[in-house]
Amino acid sequence: DYRRGGYHAVRIGDAFKGGRYIVQSKLGWGHFSTVWLAWDTLMSQFVALKVQKSAQHYTEAALDEITILKQIAEGDPDGNKSVVKLLDHFKHSGPNGQHVCMVFENLGDNLLTLIKYTGYKGLPIHKVKELCFHILVGLDYLHRQLSIIHTDLKPENILLCSMIDPSKDLRKSGAPLILPDNKDVKGHVTFNGNVNKNQKKKIRRKAKEAAQGFAGKKAVESSLNAKSNADFPIDQLVGLASVNRSSNADAATASGKEHVGSKRGSGSRRRKTLESVDLKCKLVDFGNACWTYKQFTDNIQTRQYRCPEVILGSKYSTSADLWSFACICFELATGDMLFDPHSGDNFDRDEDHLALMMELLGTMPRKVRESTFNHFKVITLACSHFINMLCPFQIALGGRYSREFFNRHGDLRHIRRLRFWPLDKVLVEKYEFSEQDAKDLADFLIPILEFVPEKRPTAAQCLLHPWINAGPNSSKPRVPDVQSKVTDTGNSEKIKSVKERTEA
Ligand code: ADP
Ligand code: MG
Repeated sequence: DYRRGGYHAVRIGDAFKGGRYIVQSKLGWGHFSTVWLAWDTLMSQFVALKVQKSAQHYTEAALDEITILKQIAEGDPDGNKSVVKLLDHFKHSGPNGQHVCMVFENLGDNLLTLIKYTGYKGLPIHKVKELCFHILVGLDYLHRQLSIIHTDLKPENILLCSMIDPSKDLRKSGAPLILPDNKDVKGHVTFNGNVNKNQKKKIRRKAKEAAQGFAGKKAVESSLNAKSNADFPIDQLVGLASVNRSSNADAATASGKEHVGSKRGSGSRRRKTLESVDLKCKLVDFGNACWTYKQFTDNIQTRQYRCPEVILGSKYSTSADLWSFACICFELATGDMLFDPHSGDNFDRDEDHLALMMELLGTMPRKVRESTFNHFKVITLACSHFINMLCPFQIALGGRYSREFFNRHGDLRHIRRLRFWPLDKVLVEKYEFSEQDAKDLADFLIPILEFVPEKRPTAAQCLLHPWINAGPNSSKPRVPDVQSKVTDTGNSEKIKSVKERTEA
């Protein structure tokens, strides 16, 4: 991906925007970008610098992302709505083209890293509630105030506000800053954490000499020497940078999304209790976001977090994010993805996904299956004989629509024997939850995992649910002007019908 149109090769010490931002270490990456910890020399603070791939498609996506991020920042001047804040943006030219760059407040580890950290065993339930509270605050803000749908909610796109392991946090580690490897910035030394007075003096003197005599590479060396004089061995700094890089290599494997079976054991050592980790979090990555009234594509969401209406090719709205939220909540609590579909010999991944949903939640109501017929489909059906005569493949053209998956009895075409295993039972039997914990979590999640998108509770309504509301955040201000929702969505009926079918 490091070619024309792709990622920009960033090195530690690189300067951006005429020397204002100096790259310190790698924070993460996604399909669209690489993200770097940088020092903002103007504001004297750490920031996250997202450097987008350069092809036109990515540039356009980044410009849409910036429009959305500006709207988000305008509506949240105090930065307490659990959504990342955009601080600056600009373009950067490199050998692979021109890259849109976005500068954000610097946040901590993403939730996938946190899940890995627990050895994929799941977090204590009160920590799950805490995270869910903040995610819902973010979603409520986006949905209710801005009519924005995130459309790619997943653990990688939700970040803790701090690092799980503070020794990996350059902001707090006390390591001196890496100086730029060019002449734009003069021997500028700022300190990061608790460096004592004498150390500061020595480093400043060396850097001043460096800036006067031999700026550029020398300045870095000089600062490193100063550090070693001041009991900051060079390898500590180099080590810090490489620790960070290797943790990113880890993240790369992790986002390859291992299957449930393969991940057990790999991280069974729980290194440190999570009690000391501050679990405030914020939503990031608005690269795929849209408005309810202005959507860019039908093809949204990362597979495992995709809602049924999107698989069936129906219209979607803010409730699509709620489906992903429920999947994430389950994953935080158990360490496993709620749905991880795979294709088989005679069925595809979509059909497996629908089967997994129905095994957990019951049959899909007729309304959902049939509401996916769009106008094209209706016309196609009405004229089916005529069209079939002209073009036998025409009916299959609506490929992603429900008739591809369901026959007219409402059964899946290729996957017949569904084994119904309701959520509360899964939690007890597979994840060894107590009956009470399982019931409480299932009562919270089942209404959100409602097949009919309009029946799903909103983020604001979820915030009022006792599972969240009576939790550790109950002293926090509640969301105003929201009516509580009756949570029985008729799910027990659906469940019964599947059970009967399976038993029959
Ligand atoms: P993409 O659109 O390429 O997926 P993201 O915005 O999701 O890019 O960022 C990719 C990764 O970079 C995230 O999963 C996260 O680990 C890291 N990251 C993104 N923004 C920040 C930030 N503000 N602070 C710290 N790390 C970040
Ligand atoms: Mg991302």
